[in-house]
Amino acid sequence: MRRDFPNADPVSHIRRHRPDHAQIYFCPDVLNRTARRFIDGFPGLVTYAVKANAGREVLENLAAAGLCAFDVASPAEMAAVREVAPKAALHYNNPVRSRDEIAQAAALGVRSWAIDGLGELDKIADAARGAEVSVRLALPVAGAAYDFGAKFGVGPDEAADLLREVARRGHVPALTFHPGTQCGDPGAWVAYVEAAAGIGRAAGVRIARLNVGGGFPAHRTGAAPRLESFFDTIARAVARAFGPDAPRLVCEPGRAMVAEAFTLATRVKAIRDTGDLFLNDGVYGGLSELRDIGPTDRVRVIAPDGAARGGGMTSRTVWGPTCDSLDRLPVPLQVPGEVREGDYLLFSGLGAYSLAISTRFNGYGLGDPVTVARL
Ligand SMILES: *Cc1c(COP(=O)(O)O)cnc(C)c1O
Repeated sequence: MRRDFPNADPVSHIRRHRPDHAQIYFCPDVLNRTARRFIDGFPGLVTYAVKANAGREVLENLAAAGLCAFDVASPAEMAAVREVAPKAALHYNNPVRSRDEIAQAAALGVRSWAIDGLGELDKIADAARGAEVSVRLALPVAGAAYDFGAKFGVGPDEAADLLREVARRGHVPALTFHPGTQCGDPGAWVAYVEAAAGIGRAAGVRIARLNVGGGFPAHRTGAAPRLESFFDTIARAVARAFGPDAPRLVCEPGRAMVAEAFTLATRVKAIRDTGDLFLNDGVYGGLSELRDIGPTDRVRVIAPDGAARGGGMTSRTVWGPTCDSLDRLPVPLQVPGEVREGDYLLFSGLGAYSLAISTRFNGYGLGDPVTVARL
């Protein structure tokens, strides 16, 4: 890891360079600390869901922090991992694959495959011979920002049938689920763990490994979630539900691993007579998730010289830079009344699903992150 960062923090970079484009900042120390929290606290193997942020600096730092397994959904993600961690285990947990993708995954040495249907199990038969195959379970549980069960996964009865078939074909039988992203309710994991134990019993199969997904919440509003209490809840639920037959555990956080390591700086292009703010980033860029999972209250406003803006908080409608009228934040933002044209809004905790899904629509969007010593 580089330690000679030319920029101490986002504010000092802004003061010196006054970027007129949206700029995202990356702090390796924060990422490394979060990785340690997962590795030290989670009662099983910690993998990283690459889709949350596939930046080379993220993958490199996670590998350096000791992560040796990655959840990948496409050959391109596998290749990105292989570039920085040639020996890492690849878990291919996108349950729907083309035959070309399966061949590429096999060539790249995928060790674990998720499925949620017999057709997809048939497709991977040769590529996954003797390897772990995990059945993706979906339950109607609440607690997440939106429903991850809408696309992938099968209910308990079908999961039991598939698990039995996986074992019968000589794969290593495993079960996997994802409670939904930004899931603030540890009870969602308890419901899944209990269902998983029931499925193992119904199928008459000893589940070798249970993947409890991502979904761990990042800090968006209010107090920071305590990851450790989620880990404790999961460990206790597994011990209770499985007893001495407990499977080994895997988790695959995306959001909670990477969110806190990035801060997004956007600039105020104009303030309308109505008080509405026009920023140089919006829902087609680094702020796209605000539309899908709701607002964040972790916003600071600074003047170009780095001074924090004050004054009473005011509620502002916020527009992005493109000429599309959908390019508006879903709810008004609370910003200090002293905000002026040319100021910067710094959004903390924005490392997940920002760079990964930012577009270049209308010539805007995010470039490479600037690395800083602290955020
Ligand atoms: C997206 C995804 C993850 C990561 O989810 P987060 O909510 O970002 O933690 C993990 N596993 C699978 C299979 C996914 O699709």
